[in-house]
Amino acid sequence: MPSNLTAICPGTFDPVTVGHLDIIRRGACKFRTVVVGLIEHPTRKNTMFTCEEHIEFLRVSLADLENVKVDHFNELVVDFARKWHASVILKGLRAISDFDYEFAMAQLNRKMAPEIETVFLMASPEHAFLSSSGVKEIVAFGGPVEDLVPPAVAQRLAERFPRR
Ligand code: ADP
Repeated sequence: MPSNLTAICPGTFDPVTVGHLDIIRRGACKFRTVVVGLIEHPTRKNTMFTCEEHIEFLRVSLADLENVKVDHFNELVVDFARKWHASVILKGLRAISDFDYEFAMAQLNRKMAPEIETVFLMASPEHAFLSSSGVKEIVAFGGPVEDLVPPAVAQRLAERFPRR
């Protein structure tokens, strides 16, 4: 794979998990630049943290990677990719449940922007069943999430949801 490409990695990251970070880090080894794109106003979702908080979590957690940038957007994913001159949309693929949605999105994006390729990295086995919604359910009932999210997120969650 040519390494002079820019990839965007879009998501709601509410909150960012070690599974997301694994995909971004692995992508950063394969692409010249990876732009993590936070979706500002996800449809059908009320987010737990504000856009500013998400950006801060992502920036702090990825600070050691020089070729990773963090941005936010409120437009089509393909328009965000074009803005960054990215030719790749980078996504993670977990268990079978991700496939239908991601396959449909990839086809729609391909129709709108044939020059942009969606590239999937398979989730690492240890993160294959990790999701932001799972993290939110665990913390809501006072459970431990330190191994599932980066330290900045774990700290903020501990403040907001004291352990029982
Ligand atoms: P979530 O589905 O957890 O709410 P997002 O909407 O932020 O996450 O998804 C952004 C991208 O990250 C999607 O491509 C999704 O498949 C991927 N992703 C989410 N969690 C993981 C994980 N644990 N391992 C690999 N990829 C993941």
